[in-house]
Amino acid sequence: MAAPADPQRLVLENCAIATVDARDTEYASGHVVVADDRIESVGAGPAPEGLTGVVRRIDATGHLATPGLVNTHHHFYQWITRGLATDHHLFDWLTALYPTWARIDEAMVRAAAQGSLAMMARGGVTTATDHHYIYPRGSGDLSGAIIEAARETGLRFTFARGSMDRGEKDGGLPPDFAVETLEDALAATEATIDAYHDPSSGAMTQIAVAPCSPFSVSTELLVQGAELARRRGVRLHTHGSETVEEARFCEERFGTGPTGYFEKTGWLGDDVWMAHCVHMNDADIAAFARTGTGVAHCPSSNARLGAGIARVPDMLAAGVPVGLGVDGTASNESGELHTELRNALLVNRLGAHREKALNARQALRMGTYGGAQVLGRAGQTGSLEAGKLADLVLWKLDTLAHASIADPVAALVLGAAAPVTLSLVGGRPVVEDGHLATVDEDAVARATRDEARRLARIAAGA
Ligand SMILES: [Zn+2]
Repeated sequence: MAAPADPQRLVLENCAIATVDARDTEYASGHVVVADDRIESVGAGPAPEGLTGVVRRIDATGHLATPGLVNTHHHFYQWITRGLATDHHLFDWLTALYPTWARIDEAMVRAAAQGSLAMMARGGVTTATDHHYIYPRGSGDLSGAIIEAARETGLRFTFARGSMDRGEKDGGLPPDFAVETLEDALAATEATIDAYHDPSSGAMTQIAVAPCSPFSVSTELLVQGAELARRRGVRLHTHGSETVEEARFCEERFGTGPTGYFEKTGWLGDDVWMAHCVHMNDADIAAFARTGTGVAHCPSSNARLGAGIARVPDMLAAGVPVGLGVDGTASNESGELHTELRNALLVNRLGAHREKALNARQALRMGTYGGAQVLGRAGQTGSLEAGKLADLVLWKLDTLAHASIADPVAALVLGAAAPVTLSLVGGRPVVEDGHLATVDEDAVARATRDEARRLARIAAGA
């Protein structure tokens, strides 16, 4: 029997390291050794001597190494409808944008997904999520286009196959031709699981069942969607408790707030993560903590739409898993997760807990390990520890923007968006020297501009 091949090793040395492990271990100057797709060792000082199979050795002086950022909530298609309805609250914003969104097709969605992914990747995201829920009739294979774009960009990816079956005629906000029937939505979601879901530990692509929100889907779609997810062993995702209007909708229709409605429909559990969770009372937070239900905190979008401030310090104190999300870029034009690290900290300091609400390390933890937790991937990624997947980022902190900031983690979270010198996903470079190694950024930018203009023309009836 042949001996197993010696792994190919990549060595980083002389960088500050924030591991985001359970004890928040940090090194002022340390090393990371990557062997094939896994982290082999992390520690203080130079790498161990005598390593074999070293194909690359990087002197990372002036850098901070962290786990790759994990984005837990996004709507990629919105990349081509940025900068519209900029002064609206959620329901008015949805009503303003649905007529445009209902005109999307496969080429538009492919370009928008490429743009969203490229922006996140160059900003240090290594695991991405897309919640896609608009499937206009005859618009092509939107799910396939999005998943293909994620594969090209090289990010680890959870595709939350969304759906809506409550159109205008049923009292919902979306136009009727942009919603699916209950049966079609469930069948298409299960077909997506069949085609793409990889249950293995190092999976690049996973699928979640993701009806859009309490006010755009039927109770049957929530109930049967949860049953489908549990039968197939995949995760569940939706929007919840985003605005006071949603809470009122649930009270009037179902006689309970959103969390009570989710509990009744099978949507609390450690296999569920929910975007926003802004309007939660103590009992709601306790229910999330008791059931292990996760939260995708989206502070920029919540501020842009005037939704409010999620009670993140209370959630963390109660033991609720919390990750960060950019949300769709029609409500957060930046589309990169650094903004969320920073805004999570700043926005929550305007809330109930004031100056002690969150610190820079808690923000980094939510943006890495917390995100991996809510996506069910914390055993494999989200921290720099031996044996985990080599999903990591080297942030350049020795230039004008950051060189004089005393603490590298504070520099990353509170400073300007730091350049990414290197990002690895499963040991494979996605960013090199600030540029995407996997796709042509300029070509992606041109395609997104062209598709945004085409969509605007079609939506205007030209
Ligand atoms: Zn959203």
